[in-house]
Amino acid sequence: MAVQRNMNPKRCPMPTQDPSVRKRNFDEVALGYTYEMAVEEARRCLNCPTKPCTTACPVSIDIPAFIERVVSEDMEGAYQIIAQSSSLPAVCGRVCPQERQCESRCVRGKKGESVGIGRLERFVADYHREHCTEKPPLPTPNGHKAAIIGAGPSGLTAAGDLAKLGYEVTVYEALHLAGGVLVYGIPEFRLPKIIVQKEIDNLKAIGVKIETNMVIGKILTIDELFEMGYEAVYIGSGAGLPRFMNIPGESLKGVYSANEYLTRINLMKAYLPDSKTPIRHSRKVAVVGGGNVAMDAARSAMRMGADEVTIVYRRGMEELPARKEEVEHAQEEGIIFRTLANPVEVLGNEQGEVCGMKCVEMVLGEPDESGRRSPVVKPDSEFILDIDTMIMAIGTSPNPLIRSTTPGLTANKRGCIVTDGEGGLTSREGVYAGGDAVTGAATVILAMGAGKAAARAIDSYITSRQK
Ligand code: SF4
Ligand code: SF4
Repeated sequence: MAVQRNMNPKRCPMPTQDPSVRKRNFDEVALGYTYEMAVEEARRCLNCPTKPCTTACPVSIDIPAFIERVVSEDMEGAYQIIAQSSSLPAVCGRVCPQERQCESRCVRGKKGESVGIGRLERFVADYHREHCTEKPPLPTPNGHKAAIIGAGPSGLTAAGDLAKLGYEVTVYEALHLAGGVLVYGIPEFRLPKIIVQKEIDNLKAIGVKIETNMVIGKILTIDELFEMGYEAVYIGSGAGLPRFMNIPGESLKGVYSANEYLTRINLMKAYLPDSKTPIRHSRKVAVVGGGNVAMDAARSAMRMGADEVTIVYRRGMEELPARKEEVEHAQEEGIIFRTLANPVEVLGNEQGEVCGMKCVEMVLGEPDESGRRSPVVKPDSEFILDIDTMIMAIGTSPNPLIRSTTPGLTANKRGCIVTDGEGGLTSREGVYAGGDAVTGAATVILAMGAGKAAARAIDSYITSRQK
């Protein structure tokens, strides 16, 4: 029977918590499609034979095929199609920058809004989690062993793909919980941790072993992993080393890196009334930076009870690198945007605590190498922001521990591990790397794409050694 397409140029809106309520709680902001909404939105898809959306997905999900299953209300069939390409669909459906990836190439976007691919992916993954009780089949062992460093999105993806090929896979994670940036970085209100845990449980169910509190480079080195019988190692250890601006006052009490601030809240649950994790109960907060991490830190500070939270960003609103949806959500929750401004000094009181931030106004000059217009200081434009907490969200780089304990592993000037590109082979035989450890801080889905590519490369490497 021919499918009745939904030609509405607008996508089915996503139900969300009311901004005035959600700005003081950590519950998920976007509530997800109902069954009926999902089918209605799926009917907007034209099932394009050339699949332009799929070509823009870093893990190449067969998007029209899974959406067609949603149209025919075969939700489990839809899930199985997504699961062939993605190990963490409930995560991607929530935090992927879809508007710059799959949805950016959707033909429906030419004369209206693109199909809500991420929203449908989230619906299908959630539906599967809530309704499917069947355990995934255990892969047949192939007799080979691989080690993964880092239980973030890149490492977990590589682990899942290798386990499905029959490898005995162990993931070594430095923190006490698996998930990497999904558990310490992205707040509960964007990605509930129960969902991350469930995705990790799915990987364990197909045989992936996860060893937590294992700091590779301290407790074990990569060379020792090879001595233990692993035939290949994948480094997916992320980029957890925060950057600061090196301006006066950064060591005052009340200055946090976004990494530390978010880790205290997300991983250590500082927002719970009985939490033992110390955190500043701030009145006025400035968050420096304009990416998703800055939005997460600002919105978390608001939920922690701050009266006023200001994003300070050196370019304009148009140039904010954060996802549009996150910026809109932050604005709805009352976050103030002080764009074209840059801090030059953090001011302290007699107790050594932050009591203000001296800033200068900026103007946009000529485009730099990246094509973005470079901000330059506007003369005589100094002003002071009254704050008691400052959160730096200007980026992170990879931790040097692994590269400094692995002879022969090449890194570039920014501390990122150098690879051959596609498969992630490093300068050491049998050692692969990908995700933020190679690119510097990027997106969850790009890290997952790198994990997938590395799993394929590791499999070809190990298989070719047998011949
Ligand atoms: Fe789109 Fe991300 Fe899902 Fe790929 S994984 S289809 S890019 S939302
Ligand atoms: Fe559907 Fe858009 Fe992909 Fe076409 S491009 S198959 S309409 S999601």
